[in-house]
Amino acid sequence: MKTEKEWKDCLSEEEYRILRKKGTEAAFTGKYYNNKKKGTYFCAGCGNKLFSSEAKFDSETGWPSFTKPISEENIKKKLDFKIIIPRTEVLCSRCGGHLGHVFSDGPKPTKKRFCINSAALKFKEGGKR
Ligand code: FE
Repeated sequence: MKTEKEWKDCLSEEEYRILRKKGTEAAFTGKYYNNKKKGTYFCAGCGNKLFSSEAKFDSETGWPSFTKPISEENIKKKLDFKIIIPRTEVLCSRCGGHLGHVFSDGPKPTKKRFCINSAALKFKEGGKR
C-alpha cells in the first residue's frame, strides 16, 4: 500500500482529507448526494467496487446514502468514538480509506443507512453492477 506522501500525491486535497484523515465533507456540497444516474460507485483511493446505484436512496441528509454495499467483503466497519456517541465507521477493505459511517435508521429491508462522502467515491455510469 501507499505511504502518506504517495496518497497526498495521488489524491485531491479533499479526497486526502476524507479518505486518509477521516474527514467529512459539508452536507449538500459533494458531487454525488443528488446523483440519480444508474451505475457503480468505486473507492476514490483504490478503485474497489463499493456501492451500486440500485442501493442508493435520498436520505435528505446531503450525503450519498446507500442501504448496502455491493459486498460486505469490500468494506470494513470499525467503532468510532470521535464524537461522544459511538458510531460505526465504514472503510474501504482494500486501501483502508475512510468512506463515512453506517447508521441503523435507513429504509427497509436492511434499515441501514450508509452515509458516505462523495469525495471518497468515483462514480461510473452504466455498465455491469
Ligand atoms: Fe479503497
